[in-house]
Amino acid sequence: MAQKCAICGEEINVFQSQKLTDGNYICRKTCKKLGMKAFDYVHADLPMVLAHNAQVEEGTKIFNELFVPRMKTKEADKKLKSFGHVYVAPDLGLTALAEPEYKFFIFGKYWPRAVVYRTGDLYRYDVKKESKIVDGKEQTETFIEYEFANTPGMFTFREKVTSGEPVVKYFNSVFGIQKTVANAGNTFANQINAVKAAAGAVKAAMNGDADAEARTATAFDALNTAKYGDRTAINAKADAALAPYRK
Ligand SMILES: [Zn+2]
Repeated sequence: MAQKCAICGEEINVFQSQKLTDGNYICRKTCKKLGMKAFDYVHADLPMVLAHNAQVEEGTKIFNELFVPRMKTKEADKKLKSFGHVYVAPDLGLTALAEPEYKFFIFGKYWPRAVVYRTGDLYRYDVKKESKIVDGKEQTETFIEYEFANTPGMFTFREKVTSGEPVVKYFNSVFGIQKTVANAGNTFANQINAVKAAAGAVKAAMNGDADAEARTATAFDALNTAKYGDRTAINAKADAALAPYRK
């Protein structure tokens, strides 16, 4: 049975369509190509796909205007740091994932799709190793799983790397985090729960004093900073760079 693409309205058969979690279909020919290859369509609904498409439209413009010129710059403070297809622009406070294409064979490299994040929104950069059997031999591949806060559209993706340690070390130094964040997630959740519980108790004891809420927020910020570093300056830099694109 033919379906209709929820974005462009074209009639599509099962081989031409991508089913989304909310039962909508989009066409592979046009509308799926608006997004990144790294985007997880299988677990996305239509609003997520639309948010991602807007993100790619904005990100591609920013990447070509701000990141591409920095690929060949001789100015040390504007140099990009790259890990696979992930590019960090330290002077902009921005990080991008960009997927290159070539006009002919390996020539005429260009960047038709990219997403750009505030580097300060990067809260997870975990190393993941996966083994698979190739020709009877076990091969291990290493990935970095990235996850960004405050991000509509694609907020998580993974990128293959030869070694994960330089990536973790780099971002830890960017955020001023000494120890590895590998297990921070669990510890963090536990501490938040502890704070919530404490705040609840305080609130009850004070018989609904409005101050208790403010105190919870303060405690939350303190824990956040302790675990993830102070992101204020890097986010301010990013907001200034993004302002012309987000009028
Ligand atoms: Zn379509």
